[in-house]
Amino acid sequence: MRTFVVSSKLTAYGAVLLALTLVAMAWTVSGQQVKRSSVSDAPRIRATVPAGAAALTARQHFLEMFARAYFPGRTGQLLVVPREGDFITRPDPDVAYMHGSPWEYDVAIPLMFVGPAVRTGLYSMPAVQQDVASTLAAALGVQMLPTVTGRVLPVLRTDFARPRVVMLVVLDGMRRDYFDRYPASMPTLTALRQRSAWFTHAEVNFIPTCTPVGHSTIATGTDPSVHGITGVSVYDRTHRRGHDLFAERMPQDLMTLTLADIWQLETAGRAVILAQGSIDRAATPLAGHGACQLNGTPVVLVSYDRQTGAWASNPDCFVLPAYLKDRNARTLWQASAEWMGHRIDSPSAVRYSALFPGFEADALIAMIEHEPIGEDDVADLILLNYKCADFVGHKYGPDSDELRVTLGEMDRHLARMLSALEAKVGANYLLAVTADHGMPSKPLSPDRRHFAPAIVDLLHEKFDPEAKQLITSFEPENLQIFVDEDRLQHLGLTLRDLAHFLESQPFLFAVFTNDDVRRAAHAAKPVTPTRRRSK
Ligand SMILES: [Zn+2]
Repeated sequence: MRTFVVSSKLTAYGAVLLALTLVAMAWTVSGQQVKRSSVSDAPRIRATVPAGAAALTARQHFLEMFARAYFPGRTGQLLVVPREGDFITRPDPDVAYMHGSPWEYDVAIPLMFVGPAVRTGLYSMPAVQQDVASTLAAALGVQMLPTVTGRVLPVLRTDFARPRVVMLVVLDGMRRDYFDRYPASMPTLTALRQRSAWFTHAEVNFIPTCTPVGHSTIATGTDPSVHGITGVSVYDRTHRRGHDLFAERMPQDLMTLTLADIWQLETAGRAVILAQGSIDRAATPLAGHGACQLNGTPVVLVSYDRQTGAWASNPDCFVLPAYLKDRNARTLWQASAEWMGHRIDSPSAVRYSALFPGFEADALIAMIEHEPIGEDDVADLILLNYKCADFVGHKYGPDSDELRVTLGEMDRHLARMLSALEAKVGANYLLAVTADHGMPSKPLSPDRRHFAPAIVDLLHEKFDPEAKQLITSFEPENLQIFVDEDRLQHLGLTLRDLAHFLESQPFLFAVFTNDDVRRAAHAAKPVTPTRRRSK
């Protein structure tokens, strides 16, 4: 058993080493594209290194990934990395699988650009979510803020014509390897990949790998340590309660401007900007700040409400189009209350089925048809969170028939959305496709699935058995445990005591304190090459 653990850590270390080597390689060939030989990624080279050194190097790498998402007042007190192949979730059948970690299955994401402006081919240089906004901004002819940590990827032709529309599709929870495992189920995405600039090594370079952090990073082009979205939630010590980031589609938690923000300011509100998503914490960062920034415009934001089954917005900052107000996901189970043997007859449950992508696509197509997309000389922006690979992956896992069928329906409806766009603007649009994070596979044994409340109990039994007040919040997708530091002091303990105890648990690979991460953030050298645009 022990041997397996070490070797699995080594495998991941190989990937880390390779990624680091590629950083160096990519910049010595200065962004030249590699000729396409086939659609599959090159096999990964595995490095052989002593276990102790490997573990230490991986540990340091993960500390830096947490540091890239460090934000004062928001980051939790204890930051945990599960062992590779183990994951932490909550006892809820809808989230039998949970992402968040720095391991390959959670960080390896697709990234491709398609359109007449794009130089097609395989790009083996490292690429990260931070690069997407700057690259799309370059296609629009603007620059992101100087605080961006991404760069313009060298995918645009030198003499390209400005696209009439830039469309960004974030496939939620879409592991890169789904493209290799399910190509027959995804003819549209597979064909797009074959005529795209495809990045073979696109990875998330921070922890936690979760939805709001990924979408905010893609939308702003900055590290989470700049945009301030550090997880799905933070603990509000002042009011002694959890705070969900982007709750009620409020953009105020996002501390920097998005591509949509920059473009609406640049065009004085003339650009049509449409953002849609099936969870508030994905849809809102794509939309940006709308009218809730100085001199801002109320851009269209449409987000699925799992209580009502309708589309919702936030009228203070955004617009909900009238033609979407009567649409409701309840129509999806009129024919049958079951899908593949599972009950789907509620606005929440239907999201975990292949029926939901059609509902998402119908809304986007209605917007494309009703809004003046591509009708003037100002390029328009469509930002879509396409959610179902995540929902179905959480519930049934990456290896399930349910996921394969869902990918097939997502693909079929993506083709409909692109046809609607092409009917409006022809071929001259730029499409970017990526993901916010991946998803772990089925654990090798049931005891490698862990539950956050049990870990809180473990800490309380050890350190605060009577009052059980020490831990204030632990949501598994954050990989951050919030500790009441007054209580900690009262008990005569330090964060280090808790971290040592947790690190002795076999299912945890590393545990850091807030102090560790803050220090690493101050010492950090960005892994993303800091070279700015070369003009
Ligand atoms: Zn997600």
